[in-house]
Amino acid sequence: MRIAVLSDIHSNSVALDAVLGHAGEVDAIWHLGDVVGYGPEPDAVVARLTELGATGVRGNHDAAAIGGPEIDWFNPEARAAAEWTRDTLSSTSRAWLSDQPERRTVEGITLVHGSPRDPLREYVTDHEIAGANMDLQETQHGLHGHTHVPVAWMATPERVALIRAEDTTTLALGTYRTLLNPGSVGQPRDGDPRAAYLVLDLELGRVGWHRVEYDIAAVQSAIRAAGLPSRLAARLALGI
Ligand code: ZN
Repeated sequence: MRIAVLSDIHSNSVALDAVLGHAGEVDAIWHLGDVVGYGPEPDAVVARLTELGATGVRGNHDAAAIGGPEIDWFNPEARAAAEWTRDTLSSTSRAWLSDQPERRTVEGITLVHGSPRDPLREYVTDHEIAGANMDLQETQHGLHGHTHVPVAWMATPERVALIRAEDTTTLALGTYRTLLNPGSVGQPRDGDPRAAYLVLDLELGRVGWHRVEYDIAAVQSAIRAAGLPSRLAARLALGI
């Protein structure tokens, strides 16, 4: 079974379509939340994921978009975009986002947005946080997003290892615990503006990361046309 794992799409349907085209035929699409927020096409992204039967979890921006208190933690640009998203979302999209749980186990793998111990808030940014989360993760392997940086954390008996994932990085899942981050489809933050995602191959026990070019200028125009903060357009070209 080959699964395309997508996180932090952030209402960027142009990047989403580029990633889906690159992934080709897969057996399932999983998403790790922040389907909406920041970007200009929330309904188009939700419609595409619905049509594909994607399985996933809720992110903090999804929660904010459907009226959650998470909006109060946002910086002014994120907040402005969340308010715009609240006003723009169709009732169908709102219902779909409301149906996404905070955590889910699929095929023996844990899916969360932020971290297994705090799915809507915690950023897994260092060895200590990653180690603590892998200790309490109920499955051997876990998938998370939220940082918008593609990495793998692996708990070996000696230490917690960090693998920075680039385009075409592959990793054998092996016998240790892992926490895997595909990076962000719609707003990468590792200095590489290309859309990021990963493919999980359960038969081969292997994961592979990918980067895909998309029409950034088209999305920037749509962000400006929607009246969203212009810095949200500028950052896409920089991958920050
Ligand atoms: Zn995000």
